[in-house]
Amino acid sequence: MQISLKSAAFRARSLRAVRPLAILAVLSTLLILYRGSQRNHELNPITTITGPTMGTRYSVKLVQLPRGVSLEQLQAGIDRRLETVNDQMSTYRPHSELSRFNRHTGTGWFDVSAATARVVSEALRVSELSGGAFDVTVGPLVNHWKFGPEKGTVQIPSDHELVALKKRVGYRMIEVRDSPPALRKQSLAVSVDLSAIAKGFAVDQISEFLETMGVSGYLVEIGGEIRTQGTKADGKRWIVGIEEPVAQQRRIRKEVALSGRAMATSGDYRNFVEIDGKRFSHIIDPRTGWPVEYRLGSVSVVADDCMLADALATTLMVLGPEEGYHFAVEQDLAALLMIRSDEGFVEKATPAFARLFAVR
Ligand code: AMP
Ligand code: MG
Repeated sequence: MQISLKSAAFRARSLRAVRPLAILAVLSTLLILYRGSQRNHELNPITTITGPTMGTRYSVKLVQLPRGVSLEQLQAGIDRRLETVNDQMSTYRPHSELSRFNRHTGTGWFDVSAATARVVSEALRVSELSGGAFDVTVGPLVNHWKFGPEKGTVQIPSDHELVALKKRVGYRMIEVRDSPPALRKQSLAVSVDLSAIAKGFAVDQISEFLETMGVSGYLVEIGGEIRTQGTKADGKRWIVGIEEPVAQQRRIRKEVALSGRAMATSGDYRNFVEIDGKRFSHIIDPRTGWPVEYRLGSVSVVADDCMLADALATTLMVLGPEEGYHFAVEQDLAALLMIRSDEGFVEKATPAFARLFAVR
């Protein structure tokens, strides 16, 4: 493969809401453990700012406030950033830039913000890198399987329907430019949906804001996508837990010390539909048009920024336990795959993940 993740040209993020089951899934996929503070709350207080966003909640943990900055100021700034991202990229807001682009009945350049162009550009790069496993034009298929804004009863598509749906999917039909920032579609049937990458972008936006405000130690989380910086007040690193991918339980399977990095998790275990007793995941393989198989329970990816971690976690879910693992090793990604087996779950960590966290 010729494109290298290390040459990432863009560092950004975007957003979009998810359906309630997905919200539950991401909220509980990563249970954040503040063990140091639990042991001695007085010595190591952690302040949390939370609020609604993207169909879920955000949470920001801080150990100290910069001089002259109030919590209210920080919260207002965070909310402003999130509002901006939603106005740019949410497909749940009819007047967002992206919704307007999707409705636009022309194939010329359509002006968007620099942020939207960055996120689409990063998405297209991951699409190319993954041979189309990741694809932000997958919306018609997502909607057919009733995982998008359109609700209703799910039907297994006929071959004819599948062919028609797949004609509307293909990241190569979308172009992006950064100066001036704009998007272009080659066909009016194609649309962009940034659900699989936007939460991570929003996490990066909050991190950037906190840093401009002088906050040095923080943990930002939106629906399971996480980014940390610095340490807690006692000098200990932030510890995050990766949950076992089982819908009815919330058991932490692995804890990792995440400092100065981002981690995103994609899973199929809470957001699925059942047809004739068979489960179908909300993650779709754009190459086949079908939801991905149920053997890979979850994938967690660690990266420098959360936008990339988010996109890659979804990508590995699509590629599956074997192809996904090989792809992750080939690209030197830090990834942990939780694979279902007859005896429970088998964890498969890539060498980069094992190096980072000294996985036993
Ligand atoms: P995530 O939770 O980050 O893995 O994103 C999953 C969401 O991304 C789904 O609910 C869909 O809206 C969308 N999606 C599903 N399959 C794909 C895919 N192959 N590429 C990009 N986005 C996808
Ligand atoms: Mg994702």
